[in-house]
Amino acid sequence: MKHALSVTREADFAAWYQSVITEADLAEESGVRGCMVIRPWGYGIWERIQRLLDDRIKATGHENCYFPLFIPLSYFEKEAEHVEGFAKEMAVVTHHRLVADGKGGLMPDPTAKLEEPLVVRPTSETVIGTAFSRWVQSWRDLPVLINQWANVVRWEMRTRMFLRTTEFLWQEGHTAHASADEAVEETLRMLEVYREFSETCLGVHVIAGEKPENERFPGAVSTYSIEAMMQDGKALQAGTSHFLGTNFAHAQNIKFQNSAGEFELANTTSWGVSTRMIGGVIMVHGDDDGLRVPPAIAPWQVVIVPMLRDQPEDASIVEYCRSLQKELAAQSALGEPVRALLDLKSAKAATKRWGWVKKGAPIVIEVGGRDVAGGNVSVIRRDRLYREDGKLDSAVMPRGDLVAGVAQTLADIQATLLAQSTERLRAQIVPVDDFATVEAHFADSVKNPGWVDVRWSKPTGAALDTVVERLKALKLTIRNAPLGQTHGDHGPCIFTGEPAVERILVGRAY
Ligand code: AMP
Repeated sequence: MKHALSVTREADFAAWYQSVITEADLAEESGVRGCMVIRPWGYGIWERIQRLLDDRIKATGHENCYFPLFIPLSYFEKEAEHVEGFAKEMAVVTHHRLVADGKGGLMPDPTAKLEEPLVVRPTSETVIGTAFSRWVQSWRDLPVLINQWANVVRWEMRTRMFLRTTEFLWQEGHTAHASADEAVEETLRMLEVYREFSETCLGVHVIAGEKPENERFPGAVSTYSIEAMMQDGKALQAGTSHFLGTNFAHAQNIKFQNSAGEFELANTTSWGVSTRMIGGVIMVHGDDDGLRVPPAIAPWQVVIVPMLRDQPEDASIVEYCRSLQKELAAQSALGEPVRALLDLKSAKAATKRWGWVKKGAPIVIEVGGRDVAGGNVSVIRRDRLYREDGKLDSAVMPRGDLVAGVAQTLADIQATLLAQSTERLRAQIVPVDDFATVEAHFADSVKNPGWVDVRWSKPTGAALDTVVERLKALKLTIRNAPLGQTHGDHGPCIFTGEPAVERILVGRAY
């Protein structure tokens, strides 16, 4: 079967990923390494993600606000672990003016050196914590529940579009609470928001769990993540939620007077998801014809392509399509009005059809003279593009049936994508009882080895370092310890031989 992309997933997954980004007009290189131009289709998906997640963040009591891009260096110096964790990847502004360099170019003006360097935010705990210390005086001021949508910069050495970029877009939630219990509850609440959002909106089944000590956010007491399974069996950390204890409150002096009049440090949390999620959607739902966008996050859910031939009958085809678009937009699917586009660009209908297939619009409708005469439409569903005989599955149906069924069809596509993701996750997590089997499982002959589910004793410090090194030799990392485990399994840890305390997922990751 011939496909729309020149490279298949099977042949070269990394090249396939890059070609989806290009062919679906999602993003392109910008000239600055690790920084990308997000094109309208890619940004439209991001806007949908923002909208749906923002609703959930607000429904759980948070308010949006905005903090500055520049953070004084001294703010970082207050939390030792935090600064150590981020020091190697911070962009720093040291000058505020350029002058001629005498060779026809420009250079930073030595007389315009900043007294204190400013860091381009890699994350905003330090500056938001400083504001919290002003906002919080008494137990009555707590909890503080805020979120911001922003861009951040982390000078990543190995970048890949959407998955790991130097500048990325994200939301970062920051909260302060009167007790550790409340802060832990908040950390887990937002992790659950991410899990539910990922499944409901992105159609991506994820595993929520706790990260091991070596993967904690710098300065956190505990870090939780949602981990998604890509089609090549690798893991993608799709979002994180951190319980920060009183570490940042101590550094930033976030103190409150409790009801007994005593001063206490607040407990804080932070949590974020980024444009990385789009990379996850590509690698979970994409196929050899391009992207398949889940209807909930598709900028356009139904695209109407009129088949025009520079003939007088064109006008009636366009008229037919316009009224069809109106009828579709008056329908409601997945809780919102249907987003239907009439594509009137001057290109051949077949070019437009394949353009929308590659972009992954959930439903593509073609309308030609014969359809108009018969009151029909030709419908392509992106989740099942081909018939069993390998031909493009374009179904002619009465226009009224399409309109009446569009909500159900979009819901079906959304459900199908999630079901495929769930199925892949289930099929590619294998319980393993000893380290030798882990080695064998990930031996090079296995193409998509997925993840293994193993028992461990949760070692710390040097013992954990040894485990991390052994896994690293196999290019493996601990993804997380899934939440909600029943602690009935007391076999030996596959690393230390000591009695295990929990099960963890181990795999290769992006
Ligand atoms: P963190 O503040 O390190 O917990 O990051 C929050 C989330 O942002 C992570 O779970 C990732 O999904 C995402 N993220 C981290 N670094 C990058 C990056 N360089 N590019 C894109 N997304 C990122």
